[in-house]
Amino acid sequence: MRTLEDQLRDLIAFEGPITVERYMGLCLERYYATRDPLGAVGDFTTAPEISQMFGELIGLWMLEVWHAMGRPSPCRLIELGPGRGTLMADLLRASRLLPDFRSAVSVHLVETSPTLRERQRAMLATSGFEIAWHDRIEDVPEGPALLVANEFFDALPVRQFVATDRGWCERLVGLEGEHLVFGLRAEPEAPLGKPPHPGAIREWPATSIALMKGLSHRLACETGAALIIDYGYWGPAFGDTLQALKQHQHVDPLSEPGEADLTTHVDFQRLAETAAGNKVRIHGMATQGEFLQALGIEARAASLKQRATPAQAADIDRALARLIARGPTEMGGLFKVLAISHAGLEAVPGLPPHPLTPARM
Ligand code: SAH
Repeated sequence: MRTLEDQLRDLIAFEGPITVERYMGLCLERYYATRDPLGAVGDFTTAPEISQMFGELIGLWMLEVWHAMGRPSPCRLIELGPGRGTLMADLLRASRLLPDFRSAVSVHLVETSPTLRERQRAMLATSGFEIAWHDRIEDVPEGPALLVANEFFDALPVRQFVATDRGWCERLVGLEGEHLVFGLRAEPEAPLGKPPHPGAIREWPATSIALMKGLSHRLACETGAALIIDYGYWGPAFGDTLQALKQHQHVDPLSEPGEADLTTHVDFQRLAETAAGNKVRIHGMATQGEFLQALGIEARAASLKQRATPAQAADIDRALARLIARGPTEMGGLFKVLAISHAGLEAVPGLPPHPLTPARM
């Protein structure tokens, strides 16, 4: 296969510079289609890969919300970007506590990578559930729904705009000789308000916004809830959050297109405001550490340790600390949790109601 870098050179030589959004989209498509990027020997590790406790607690969250929804049957259990399928496997195992839930739900995985679909198929072969795969969330059949997305929104392409004295200009990827370089569209275009200072960068997550519009519309019309967990912030913020990771190290986002994981930080305020436009309830945001502690992760760790060897118990403590610690570079604080739900669901476990919830629903 030709390298994506060669293909991008031809594309840019032929069509001219492309937007950062298109660059990210092409890189991510190649990246996820050609590998399993997770784990210690991969490029990055995610919460479900650190400990079974993560998926189990999300499973208990789903059971409780399903109960509050009035125990609908059928109910769609949807995951966006399931990676190796670990979270879903742990969630489904925890659901053994409630056989009625297991007979009511059908499992739907939204996944574009053929490589990861195979990993998910193998991981879930003994789950006792029939699994349906979809390329897009719009393809999941209608009906009450429970959805989870962990480290999914950060993998969707964003547009970037740079403040100039002419206004906001879109950031592009072009060629200088053989090298890919960042550039700017000459004409300003984006109505993003007054630029704060020259050089400031604004990110516009067009794909995430479109997805959130569809999802919140669904949850406004039919009962259900969605739980979103990701590396991100409550905006508005100015700055370039595009980053590339390879083998757990930061690399230049232009240096190895399609060979490194590209992400941006998720703008949770924009997601929540988009959802609120559709008359759904907003819950959170909380840090991952607060959320998992409210769901009882410490008690779960203690009960797992009762049946563990001393070495296993030490592993459980390490995993617990990694998931909930709130230091400036630690997952428990950097990762945030937001839920949106049908108006009839006044509360969900582990998250406070958010004032953005529209007053009249
Ligand atoms: N949720 C998993 C994996 C996160 S990696 C975990 O926590 O371990 C991102 C996942 O999203 C991968 O499974 C990737 O193949 C998938 N993905 C990325 N872009 C996608 C898109 N546009 N549509 C559907 N799936 C996508």
